Amino acid sequence: MTGRADVAGLGARREHVLATYARADVTLVEGEGCRVRDDEGRWYLDLGGGIAVVSLGHRHPAVTAAAHAQLDRLWHVSNLYWTEPMLALAERLSARVGGVQAFFCNSGAEANEAAIKVARKATGRPRIVALEGGFHGRTLGALSATGQPSKWEGFGPLLPGVSFARPNDVESLEAAIAPGGELAAIMLEPILGEGGVVPLDRPFVAAAAEIAREVGALLCVDEVQAGIGRTGTFLASEGLGLQPDLITLAKGLANGLPIGALLVRPGPAAAIAPGDHGSTFGGNPVAAAAACAVVDAIDDALLAHVVEIGERLTAGLASLPGVLEVRGRGLLLGARLDRPVAPLVDACRERGVLVLSAGPDVLRLTPPLVLSAAEADEGLTVIADVLATAADAA
Ligand SMILES: *Cc1c(COP(=O)(O)O)cnc(C)c1O
Repeated sequence: MTGRADVAGLGARREHVLATYARADVTLVEGEGCRVRDDEGRWYLDLGGGIAVVSLGHRHPAVTAAAHAQLDRLWHVSNLYWTEPMLALAERLSARVGGVQAFFCNSGAEANEAAIKVARKATGRPRIVALEGGFHGRTLGALSATGQPSKWEGFGPLLPGVSFARPNDVESLEAAIAPGGELAAIMLEPILGEGGVVPLDRPFVAAAAEIAREVGALLCVDEVQAGIGRTGTFLASEGLGLQPDLITLAKGLANGLPIGALLVRPGPAAAIAPGDHGSTFGGNPVAAAAACAVVDAIDDALLAHVVEIGERLTAGLASLPGVLEVRGRGLLLGARLDRPVAPLVDACRERGVLVLSAGPDVLRLTPPLVLSAAEADEGLTVIADVLATAADAA
């Protein structure tokens, strides 16, 4: 009834949605595992996973059951009271990350806003150093720490006191920290996701941690995209040997229900008192129950699977014509192409495979962590065909 045949009606309905996204001409109605179906009955292999969100695949039985059970019990009470799912999730995250306290919100941007506020309150200082090309969200504080000027245009003035350093350049980091002192936090993504899938190297993050300690600032690692098993460890920080003071999570935490979290070590946590921060929906029982099921499912076997499939995809992508370099870890991967990526994204979708871009020439894959070897190969075959076809046409 609502198929794409009804073009006029569809166009009219789409006019009611604010044009913040350049959406593809597809309406998705159902998902199962690593596949989604559109309103015309066509199935797609989902190598984007809702941009690193659907960690365990669409309609994962344990997560679905946990959310259903909570829907039938309690949807919401205010944060003036405790709820079981929020306590259970905080307990799990503290056990996995090692003695942190959790603040719950609803998105990655909100988690980073909370991080900026906690860093300022705990240090009594205003300044933030972040990375060129980094991405921390669209709200004004998180946007101010986002090192992509194109995303600021028309929205200034931004938060004062934010400076940017080049990724993997310790001298640039020292230079960004120098002016005026007063540094509250160094904020970075372990792998710059939106910024083109750029992994930070160990010497750089070790230097960032050391400098933060020396000047009395906090190290804040934004694991909104890279966390929750995506790089083959529960947190990407673990893989880099880091113990950040502040960690932000969101995307993959509840397999698609909205949730964000800021994890705070005891030192900075001691600066926070009732009334300092809040969120009406933060720690929502249904989202928190789903997140508990996600955290429970991310065991050593799944993490080993992420590494194995990541290596398979990396090797497959690296062998394709037109791929100059493959970057990233686990199932947060970017293939830099010798051509613009946008036509490839469209051509893959037309052939039943959903892929992402990160910048003008990077093909990004962030599939569900449960992607099978056969599904990985199926995706690679389509990407290879599309790259070869484009080469023939050129
Ligand atoms: C997506 C993303 C955000 C923003 O998350 P939202 O839920 O869209 O607000 C922040 N940081 C990183 C690293 C992200 O990938």
